[in-house]
Amino acid sequence: MKTAPAPLAVARTEGARIILEDGRELVDGIASWWTACHGYNHPHIARAVADQLARAPHVMFGGLAHEPAYRLARRLAQILPGDLDHVFFAESGSVSVEIAMKMAIQFWINRGVQGRSKFVSFLGGYHGDTLATMTICDPEEGMHGLFAGVMPAQHVTALPVDEASEAALDALLRERGGEIAALIVEPRVQGAGGMLLHDDEVLRRLRRLADRHEVLLIFDEIFTGFGRTGDLFACLGAGVTPDIITLSKALTGGALPLSAAVANRKVFEAFWSDDPGAALMHGPTYMGNPLACAAANASLDLFEDGAWRGEVARINTALAQGLAPCRDAKGVVDVRTLGAIGVVEFDHVLDSGALSQQFAALGCWIRPMGRVIYLTPPFVTSDAELDRLTGAVHKVAGLG
Ligand code: PLP
Repeated sequence: MKTAPAPLAVARTEGARIILEDGRELVDGIASWWTACHGYNHPHIARAVADQLARAPHVMFGGLAHEPAYRLARRLAQILPGDLDHVFFAESGSVSVEIAMKMAIQFWINRGVQGRSKFVSFLGGYHGDTLATMTICDPEEGMHGLFAGVMPAQHVTALPVDEASEAALDALLRERGGEIAALIVEPRVQGAGGMLLHDDEVLRRLRRLADRHEVLLIFDEIFTGFGRTGDLFACLGAGVTPDIITLSKALTGGALPLSAAVANRKVFEAFWSDDPGAALMHGPTYMGNPLACAAANASLDLFEDGAWRGEVARINTALAQGLAPCRDAKGVVDVRTLGAIGVVEFDHVLDSGALSQQFAALGCWIRPMGRVIYLTPPFVTSDAELDRLTGAVHKVAGLG
């Protein structure tokens, strides 16, 4: 707080724009951390939330339930692959990952298997800021280096990107499988750890290894879910179905906080018991909030006609063409895109605060992270707005 520039005061938002109190209008290159996929203030989502606000803004979700949540759970089960049919709602991404971790550990306890309480996660990964999720983030790349040695150690290892790394993970699972509850990965894109991309083959290898060593497989699609990579979910595009998936961010189209940990039948059945002690004891106060569920249902309506696919493809072309010249900029080591994600990676850590101010002066909201300048705009961003974003990246990268 002492050293960072003061945040910019926002008056309102509209489409792909953030309008500041001082009257400046910024094109949002980040979609508020990848949430506002349909753009801000979408009238369909706003109307659904207003209608729900008039009916019941919130009720506790213990002993009570409501149609917006039932409807959303049914719809998620329909669009997710395989038998990922059992939905647990929470209010933030990190909490849904905590719930997925807790589900995985209790899955083994409920089955009478002792000692499976650890996780295998991957270098470059990011899964949240709460204490348990911190343990499965990349210890070096993440923001939690100070806590090294404080929290229980997990197996944070290399993704199986080739035969050698697959063999290394296979060996780890052979040796330590008896203490491992699940593998957890961000499929296709490790987002906050540096927008690192990997092939779908990596996910197929993970599924094979999880099956071979009988550990659960968790996909954290909090970043990749809802169209960002060009498929509705990365798991659908890759044709790999995990045992548990976590969703948040664009789940409500960026209107309200909501998350979900969705389990398959095998996981669910380990909790389906006459013994109340086998239940998953977790009850965040605002879980299944009706306003957030109404927003999420409205957001899913907007995905239904499939128009988003064309928009994501259009954005991909604009980002690929618009960012390509950055390859010639000093210090740039890579330029990459996937779906509605564009990344310029440098050979040094960037001064995020100072660069965001430069971007704001160019009419853009872009906030570099570590060594990367990235663009993850709303799907409604126009061609002219995309030009403004990529043009600003050229200028800030020193291309004039
Ligand atoms: N998992 C992934 C893949 C994320 O990208 C994030 C947030 O950036 C989280 C988990 C944590 O979500 P939240 O910030 O809502 O707690």
